[in-house]
Order: sequence, then C-alpha cells, then structure tokens
Amino acid sequence: MAAKMKHFHDEDALVKQIGGLFLARRGRKLHLGIGDDAALWKPKPGFVSILTSDWFLEGSHFLREKHRPDSVGWKCLTRAASDIAAMGGTPRCFLLNLAIPTDATERWLGGFLGGLRRAARSLNCVLAGGDTTRSKRILISITVIGEIAEGQEVLRSGGRPGDLLYVSGTLGEAEHGLRLLRKTAGKVNRKKDALRKHLYPQPRVELGRWLSERKLATAMMDISDGLSSDLRRMCKASGVGAVIVPGKLPLLRGIDLDSARKLALHGGDDYELLFTVSRRNAARIPAMFHGLRLTQIGKLTRGRNVQIIGKNGTRELLSVSGWDPFR
Ligand code: ADP
Ligand code: MG
Repeated sequence: MAAKMKHFHDEDALVKQIGGLFLARRGRKLHLGIGDDAALWKPKPGFVSILTSDWFLEGSHFLREKHRPDSVGWKCLTRAASDIAAMGGTPRCFLLNLAIPTDATERWLGGFLGGLRRAARSLNCVLAGGDTTRSKRILISITVIGEIAEGQEVLRSGGRPGDLLYVSGTLGEAEHGLRLLRKTAGKVNRKKDALRKHLYPQPRVELGRWLSERKLATAMMDISDGLSSDLRRMCKASGVGAVIVPGKLPLLRGIDLDSARKLALHGGDDYELLFTVSRRNAARIPAMFHGLRLTQIGKLTRGRNVQIIGKNGTRELLSVSGWDPFR
C-alpha cells in the first residue's frame, strides 16, 4: 500500500513525514533515531556491526516509466539487506539517502515509501536517518547496519578445494522478469509471477543466519550480478577454482533449456545465496530450507579456474558475463 503523503513546503517537513511513516513498532529500538544530527546504534554485547551501502538509480537500476514506485522502495532496501544476509548476519537499521525531483514528491514518493516501509517491516529493520535533497533524477542510496555474533561471520574467502558448492532458490528468474518487463509496454502488473523476483526480491536472511550459527558454510556471498561473475569473485577471495555441473543448476521452468541455463549462469539480480560446505558437513544441508530449495551445483577445486562440465563431459572454462555497470 502506498504511504499517505501530505503536501509539504520544505525539507524538514518532508523528513518529518518520512520519519513518522517508519516509527518502530516492534523489535529492538535504536539508541537514538531520526531528529538529531546523527543516529545512535548500539550492537548487542558480543556482536559486531555489519555495514553495507547500495545505490539505486533511476535510469541504471530502475526506470520510472516501467517500475512501480513501491517495487523501487521494496527493492532498494531488500537488495542492500541481502549483503547482510550474505555475511550470515541480521539487518537491524538503515539510512535512506534520497535525491528526488519535485515532480516525484507526491504520488511517486508515497508509493516508494509504502514499498520501503513494507520491506522494513518484513525485515524488522528500522529507519535510523538519512539525507534528503533535490535532483533532476531519482537517486537512492541505502546503507544498512546489521549485526552478527563475533566470530560467526561467513566471508567469501573461507572456501577450500573439495568443498561442495550450493545455491538457494532458482537462478535466472529475476533476469527473465527484467526481459519480460522490457518487452511490455507501459507499467506492468506486479502480481505477475514471472516478474515477482525482479520486482520484489527476498533476501535470504534466515538461511544465511542458519548457516552461520551452525558454522556450516565455509564461504558465502549473495548472487547479485550473476553466478558466473559472483562465483569468480568467491574463488578469487578463497584462492581456489570451481567446477559447475550444468545439469544440477536450479533452472527456471517454462522456457527452453538453453535459455534457462544461460539465465542461470549469467543473469543478475537474483539475491540468492551462494555458499560452500565441507564434505564432512554436506549431509547436514537439507534439500529444502523453510520452503526454499538448496541445490548442490558443483564443488571447489585446486587451481584458479572456474569451469563447467561441457556437452562431452569434459571441463570447459566458464565465461564471465554477469551484470557489470562499466561493461
Ligand atoms: P543535517 O543538515 O545536519 O545533515 P538533516 O536536516 O539532513 O541534518 O537531517 C536531520 C535529521 O533527519 C537527521 O536525523 C537525519 O538522519 C534525518 N533525515 C534526513 N533525511 C532523511 C531521510 N531521507 N530519511 C530518514 N531520515 C532522514
Ligand atoms: Mg545536522
């Protein structure tokens, strides 16, 4: 539901309205929230804070004429929170930096804040502050602060040769949704299943926490740019190689196999978790985690190459062609 915006004449009045829409209802409150020069945040004793920031820009990450404002609000927070999930932590509060043109301050902003509020509630993540200004295009930057028990954090660098490689959910769905959206004239129906993952991604916070608390994942990251790009990053950080078995990839159904595989390997924006588990612990990874599929898609290897099993059973180098804003 869109948030109800009242007409306002200045920045202070706008910020006051935003703050009023996000009053914490449950969960742990901030030490000090909106209204002073800065907010105060105090992690639990024995916990460390996790800090992450993400841009979400009109023209690069969303199109005003295609993406409903409430999906922009939902997605800018959930994709930033996905980085907290990828460390095994829990998002707690966030900062909203917003630059908007005056023609977006009413309807657009109401829809945006409605979606953002829904995401904040579903993650139990409190708005701690931010900054607001005017600009020609809509620019959003979200900083999320999360926490994790000291020593439980799961880094990209912990993978070892022989560890098994897993992903959550299905891969390529968000990219497929984006392509459908590009083909559709005007605004699209947000209820459409094929678009849901592109418009309303679900960060895998519970899964990340479950893996980190039990120390099951040796390395972990979220897939935001596509498996081929992100797996390479994990391998680099861990100083290992990897091999993927294409027949094991959790593919999108209802499209031809070749396209589904390409989408799964290179499609961006899925926000699924990519993680590795030692052979010894593999039996402890369930096929389903609270309704979310977990699939072993390959393993880590010695060396530095990221490979895929080809048609005749031999290993081929996996090309890297996930999303890259500079390519
Ligand atoms: P300053 O000019 O000192 O940076 P601001 O007037 O920008 O202060 O901010 C005053 C208060 O309003 C701060 O608590 C700040 O975090 C909050 N605030 C400003 N913009 C936003 C926003 N878009 N969302 C949430 N809080 C905001
Ligand atoms: Mg100030």
